[in-house]
Amino acid sequence: MGEEANTKVYKKRGLRKIVETVAPLEEVLELIHETGGESFKYCYQCGMCDTVCPWNRVRAFSMRKLVRQATFGLTEIENEDMWRCTTCGRCPQRCPRGVGIIEVGVSARRIATEFGVFPTSVRPVRGVSASLIGEGNPIGEEREKRADWAKGLSVETFTEGMDLLYFPGCYLSYDPRLKKVAAATANILNKAGVEFGILGTKENCCGESIRKAGDEEAFKRLARENIKTFIDNGVNKILVSSPHCYHTFKNEYPEFRVNFEVVHISQFIFELIQEGRLELNNAYEKKVTYHDPCYLGRHNGIFDEPREILKKVPGLELIEMPDSREDSLCCGGGGGRIWMETPKGERFSDLRVEQAMAVGAELLVTSCPYCISNFEDSRLTLEVDEGIEVKDITEIIQEAL
Ligand code: SF4
Ligand code: SF4
Repeated sequence: MGEEANTKVYKKRGLRKIVETVAPLEEVLELIHETGGESFKYCYQCGMCDTVCPWNRVRAFSMRKLVRQATFGLTEIENEDMWRCTTCGRCPQRCPRGVGIIEVGVSARRIATEFGVFPTSVRPVRGVSASLIGEGNPIGEEREKRADWAKGLSVETFTEGMDLLYFPGCYLSYDPRLKKVAAATANILNKAGVEFGILGTKENCCGESIRKAGDEEAFKRLARENIKTFIDNGVNKILVSSPHCYHTFKNEYPEFRVNFEVVHISQFIFELIQEGRLELNNAYEKKVTYHDPCYLGRHNGIFDEPREILKKVPGLELIEMPDSREDSLCCGGGGGRIWMETPKGERFSDLRVEQAMAVGAELLVTSCPYCISNFEDSRLTLEVDEGIEVKDITEIIQEAL
């Protein structure tokens, strides 16, 4: 901890960042406590976190060091490193002291957000926050267009008494590539005779990723609006496509004293097949490898259902990659990183696409909009788009019906 770190100190007073040496930095420690990062105190600097962090496959990065800085109240809010963590969940799994490593990182981001300090690569997050508050989505699209993906499909607006709310989330509602996933989902539900509806323009971003990017206020606002909409419309059970929506509805919205039944599409399709409501008759003769999204697998323990449904597709050969299940290699999109700039050569998704090709897969399949976006980008930037396809699990099931 050098002198330089000691000079990069900020005070809450008047929300003004000041540069001076303050010891023992109690105000900073207080802020870290207030923003949920206090478990740094259990860290004994073993470095296990750094050995598993995917950043160290592409460049040097030390979460251990960031936790250490927090211990002394020396969190440097100008430091680009505190924005690197994708909240993938690998290091908390390994930490022998039970440090809430993700929470320590998010705490630093909350402080930086409060002071309005963003390094260049992180600046897009400011626009994201504005778009979330204005239009309910992070990509600057109009709220009125949120249900356009469903035009021409048999998709109704959710009304009280319906069995299921389908919540496609932002990327499946607007992104041209991912709208195909929303359409595949609707087709599967219709084929199985499931009664469902969507909220359309009344749906807001779930808020999961902006929370991990440090904007707690935006998260709370989105969560409260969604919860009110769910309650006003008599929603009980919510079907989601994104593991990020799944995670926040299931594990974070209960902080607002509500509990909705939440099901991910991979679980739901598995149930439909088990109940004999979906039959997979068409052959899909391809070598497929499955990538576990961090927020579906590691954070929520859903590893088997996606694999089980793929195994039921006639002709499909499922191959495992290294770094699968609990050890899955993050695509790089969590923790708000989907909105930040990651230079070529530092993208984990490139490594994952290469791993998929190395095991001989013709198709890399997953079940998360961020993973799909990152893998599609990697296919193009690595110039391997002829060699491997990227699909959501629903796109395969739709073809097998
Ligand atoms: S693994 Fe846990 S105890 Fe070890 S350095 Fe990382 S945060 Fe500290
Ligand atoms: S949660 Fe993942 S990305 Fe973040 S520090 Fe831990 S291993 Fe690295």
